[in-house]
Amino acid sequence: MNPAADRIGRVNTPNAELVVDVAAIRHNVRRLKEWVGPGVQMMTVVKGDGYGHGMVPAARAARAAGAEWLGVATLEEALTVRAAGDTGRLLCWLAVPGQDFAPLVAADVDVTAYTVAELDEIRAAARSVGERARVQLKVDTGLSRGGSTAADWPDLVAAARRAELAGELVVTGIWSHLAASEDQAHPANDAQEKAFLDALDVAEAVGLRPEVRHLANSAGAVLRPSVRFDLVRCGIASYGLDPAPGVTPAGLDLVPAMTARARLAMVKHIDAGAGVSYGHLWVAEEPTTVGLVPVGYADGVPRHGSGALEVAVGGERHPVRGRICMDQFVIDLGADTTAQAGDEVLLFGTGARGEPTAGEWAAWCDTINYEIVTRIGGRFARVVIDSAEGDA
Ligand SMILES: *Cc1c(COP(=O)(O)O)cnc(C)c1O
Repeated sequence: MNPAADRIGRVNTPNAELVVDVAAIRHNVRRLKEWVGPGVQMMTVVKGDGYGHGMVPAARAARAAGAEWLGVATLEEALTVRAAGDTGRLLCWLAVPGQDFAPLVAADVDVTAYTVAELDEIRAAARSVGERARVQLKVDTGLSRGGSTAADWPDLVAAARRAELAGELVVTGIWSHLAASEDQAHPANDAQEKAFLDALDVAEAVGLRPEVRHLANSAGAVLRPSVRFDLVRCGIASYGLDPAPGVTPAGLDLVPAMTARARLAMVKHIDAGAGVSYGHLWVAEEPTTVGLVPVGYADGVPRHGSGALEVAVGGERHPVRGRICMDQFVIDLGADTTAQAGDEVLLFGTGARGEPTAGEWAAWCDTINYEIVTRIGGRFARVVIDSAEGDA
């Protein structure tokens, strides 16, 4: 073997790593299943590369914990899950006109129709494959995003029923999505639940008998038993994160699965009056020691976190100073630090070692933890661990 060729493309000690603990995902999926109780199926949502955790490892962890279903947005995500060897129930829900449903029908993926036109595309795909498509119908109950309007719903269910009787497809589910499930007092919750029940009545009247009716995301599943129906679609909570600050009851005992960490590229003393990073947004009032963290907005560290984020070094929190750059940012280690170049920097994680959580990062960046974990990536090396390996 050519040693030079062997070195090219080989991962050196990485500047930074995203560590995903699949044992935490399994734990969270099991806890959520216990929380919603028997008789409610669990769909673990693994879209968006498993909320940034890695779609395939997340999917495998969810199945190992007993998730009956996986959920993804795009057709391509569904085929990626199948290509990884998954054979369980799998739903996707976001296509554009002209996409080819045939490989999804052939791969036994449940696909979603919002309109009669989309249903017609699915029917054509089913005919081309020579198999019945598994179709779920989505009704818009008040989010005004995807799904059939209430006005179009009678036509959609009637068309689906005709296609079912013609042997082209089976309607396996009817579903909708909540607008404000994290806010229990929001009037949209009652209104959407009522609209969903009405839509189910319309479907039943034309003879549809779907296997699963579903409405709840994580917050709905956790907070509002009446929206659980036959199945809940849990994304964020499966990764151990709160759907909104303070939503998750402590008793649910979720564990964040992702830790973002880096190694200090450099540690140095700066004098009072030194401006730090682009634009000198921050100027040292006293002499201090700064550390250089070798990840930036190209890696999904939000530039919005400039001057606001905190990270942990040696169990202590330290603030970001000045602008987050494309590849790096600067932290204030304080004048008497013992930190050295090469030391570990915990950006966010479970909080067990003094580090912030993704939720704290979200608050500092004026966003939600969903966006923090799905956008982090870039040049982080991805490491999947199983902290329960060896357990019985
Ligand atoms: C993303 C998504 C979910 C999961 O929502 P969480 O709040 O992460 O639990 C459920 N259903 C649909 C349709 C989604 O797009």
